Amino acid sequence: MSEPIPVDAELLRSMPLPFHGDDADKDERGRILVIGGSRAVPGALLLAGVAALRAGAGKLQLATVGSIAPHIGVAVPEALVMSLPESDEGEIAPDAAAEIAHRLGRCDAVLIGPGMLDEEAATAITVEAMGVDGPSFVIDAGALCNLRAEAKAMARHDGRIVLTPHAGEMAKLMGVTVKEIAADPAAAATRAAAELGAVVALKGGRTVIAVPDGRTWEYSQGQVGLATSGSGDTLAGVVAGLLARGAEPHEAAIWGVYLHGEAGNRLSQTRGPVGFLARELLAEIPAIMAGLA
Ligand code: AMP
Ligand code: MG
Repeated sequence: MSEPIPVDAELLRSMPLPFHGDDADKDERGRILVIGGSRAVPGALLLAGVAALRAGAGKLQLATVGSIAPHIGVAVPEALVMSLPESDEGEIAPDAAAEIAHRLGRCDAVLIGPGMLDEEAATAITVEAMGVDGPSFVIDAGALCNLRAEAKAMARHDGRIVLTPHAGEMAKLMGVTVKEIAADPAAAATRAAAELGAVVALKGGRTVIAVPDGRTWEYSQGQVGLATSGSGDTLAGVVAGLLARGAEPHEAAIWGVYLHGEAGNRLSQTRGPVGFLARELLAEIPAIMAGLA
């Protein structure tokens, strides 16, 4: 296995993001749907959705449990909000997937997972969503942990799926221990990408991005302040926003990891090395992106 390629500004300049001309409307700029949130963790959806807009996507839809949908709509006035059936535990009910299916076909990218605590329900919704052709997918958190058995559902998307696990989620996904993942993150990400036919961004102090053909990239310039509640939700949203804009899945993952890391680095300078909030990362993204154009 060859050494991972370092993710830096020079690399990103060699893989420019899709260009939208002055005449583009918001549909052309990229339509994204984020499915997630629960009564216990409603804000993850907000972080992910706004992150997608900050990454330049044109149109945002959020789908979440009925009890929080109106609140999310007020908190994110830019979004169209879908209210989904809710379980007694305040999670999106597994049968909600059928309701979402007709929307999926009209999206460029779909992000599933932020704020979903019930892994079983999250998996059921993810599998149903992957039955729709058209959009690219980002699958995060509880929605990805049980996907190893769903290789067939994933295969039909021909590599247009990005998984964004941290080490604990990766261990569950691949049926190994966190220690084994930590011993060789690049090997773990490479194996998962090859086996699942997806782009895998294995997050941590050092984040490895792997694609099914065996290529890997690594970003290790981030700061420990990024290890904070909601941080991963913002990363997943940025990656999904870039996908919606038309970036290739591996490019969206590489760009997303860099933009998220550099946003943390900027806040480390202005706020201090720890104590900045995941939501504060969001507003940093556009200027960092513009600086790499
Ligand atoms: P999550 O655990 O899903 O909230 O994601 C945490 C985010 O913070 C990921 O993007 C990680 O790569 C990043 N992260 C976690 N720990 C560190 C660290 N020690 N240094 C830099 N980035 C980190
Ligand atoms: Mg997370």
